[in-house]
Amino acid sequence: MNDPTPADHAAWIARAAAMKFETGLFIDGRSTTGSGKPIPAINPANGASLAELACGTAKDIDNAVASAKQAWNDGRWRHMAPRARMDIFRRWADLIEENAAELALLETLSMGKPISDALAIDLPETVLTLRYFGEAIDKIGGVVSNSPHNASHMVSREPLGVVGAISAWNYPLLMATWKVAPALAAGNCVVLKPSEKAGLSCIRLAQLFAEAGGPPGVFNVVNGYGIEAGRRLALHPDIAKISFTGSTATGKQLMIHAGESNLKRVSLETGGKSPQIFMPDLHDLDAAVDRAIMGIFDNAGQVCNAGSRLLVHADLHDEFVERFVARAPALYTPGDPLDPATSLGPLVSHQHQRTVMGWIERGVECGASLALGGNPDPGQTGGAYVEPTLLCEVAPTMAVGREEIFGPVACVQRFTSEAEALQLANDSIYGLAASVWTSDVNRAHRMVKALEAGVVWVNCFGDGDMTQPFGGYKQSGNTRDKSLECLAGYMQSKSAWFNLD
Ligand code: NAD
Repeated sequence: MNDPTPADHAAWIARAAAMKFETGLFIDGRSTTGSGKPIPAINPANGASLAELACGTAKDIDNAVASAKQAWNDGRWRHMAPRARMDIFRRWADLIEENAAELALLETLSMGKPISDALAIDLPETVLTLRYFGEAIDKIGGVVSNSPHNASHMVSREPLGVVGAISAWNYPLLMATWKVAPALAAGNCVVLKPSEKAGLSCIRLAQLFAEAGGPPGVFNVVNGYGIEAGRRLALHPDIAKISFTGSTATGKQLMIHAGESNLKRVSLETGGKSPQIFMPDLHDLDAAVDRAIMGIFDNAGQVCNAGSRLLVHADLHDEFVERFVARAPALYTPGDPLDPATSLGPLVSHQHQRTVMGWIERGVECGASLALGGNPDPGQTGGAYVEPTLLCEVAPTMAVGREEIFGPVACVQRFTSEAEALQLANDSIYGLAASVWTSDVNRAHRMVKALEAGVVWVNCFGDGDMTQPFGGYKQSGNTRDKSLECLAGYMQSKSAWFNLD
């Protein structure tokens, strides 16, 4: 079947109905069955069963790690000429691009993301990630230091070994690629355990790596549950590093597992409750409101850096809320994610829908006022929908304003001074991202310096490219994805001192 044009709803429905899913594990260069009870893949837009994914257990993780360890030991990847590895990366990126329609559809069907977002964001960003780290392969180098006359000192950078990647479901392919691409580019071998909630596309990622010429065993994918397959990967003595994207609670558990096993490195990209600060001197209120809406309702709010706390100066507050409430429903109307006109799909599952609805109810019970939304599944479709929701008068002590909701729910707090805005913004266990809206350049610099966040946007939200290190302060994580800083995290330095006497 030909790829549907991006705007053709009926063609996407037909293509989805005809979809054949790859459901095996991918170990040692081929598809294989799993030892566990299969994982049901459910379409959250209608509750329909899509497929049953092979489920990896500890035994399958052990097989995958053994395969990766063999590939590491015999050097089939790390000893390959850098230009040859770059060629494989280039072909891999091209194959992802050629199969973009199929891969986008897998994302939409498995976790409810609008097809237009999958095509415009997830797939191009995945390709860009592969191209960026692929291009870096022959640029990685060490240094020869300015040593004494009778010595020579060089510091080289070497890969770590077998990297275990554990990823989340909100951008299934992209979050996995943010781990896998730099790990492989640095010369490591990889075992990826995707989220059990959206594992369909990651199997294809590994198959396309093999099709591009990637040697067997270098990149393995084991779908499975966190509590068994993820845990085994984190405890495995042959894993040199765990690279994780997911919740803060799981991140803490992984650090314990590293301590209980081989002191493997653990790099964490975890949760957030990101503040957006709107100062009274901001330049364009309509533009700021539109970005605030986008910052919380894109991907149905299932974004680690979602701008879920809107800190609005008292002078702007009422007008800001009025415009937000007037504009958001038209910009984010819940709809069939296979319809290219849809900008708000269902949440990943009905269970997550119940959790998000629980947060809204709890917020209202605690005294927040519901200014917009607050209902599940407004179209009565049976999908896991939650309307775009705005809670106002959220006190700093309320859990709804402090905990990550990971859904389309924004909380508004008002402030009266720059100092108060910063105090509210930093009063969080998280520190992933923040934004400041102001036309005063001195104020912007002052506030950027004072904000406890790994990423700060000024007069924008969510902008950036591959050069931008992405990760958090405090309990939002301890590492950075994207950028050359991220690549360095998949290598270790070796310092060699030569006595020339
Ligand atoms: P999660 O922690 O429940 O699961 C993430 C991954 O960890 C999954 O693959 C899961 O199977 C695995 N896992 C769960 N328990 C495990 C255990 N005991 N041992 C080993 N592995 C285990 O998180 P989630 O619900 O999939 O994802 C949502 C979270 O991810 C949110 O908190 C969000 O903020 C965060 N996230 C962060 C970033 C970032 O870059 N900082 C990006 C996307 C998502």
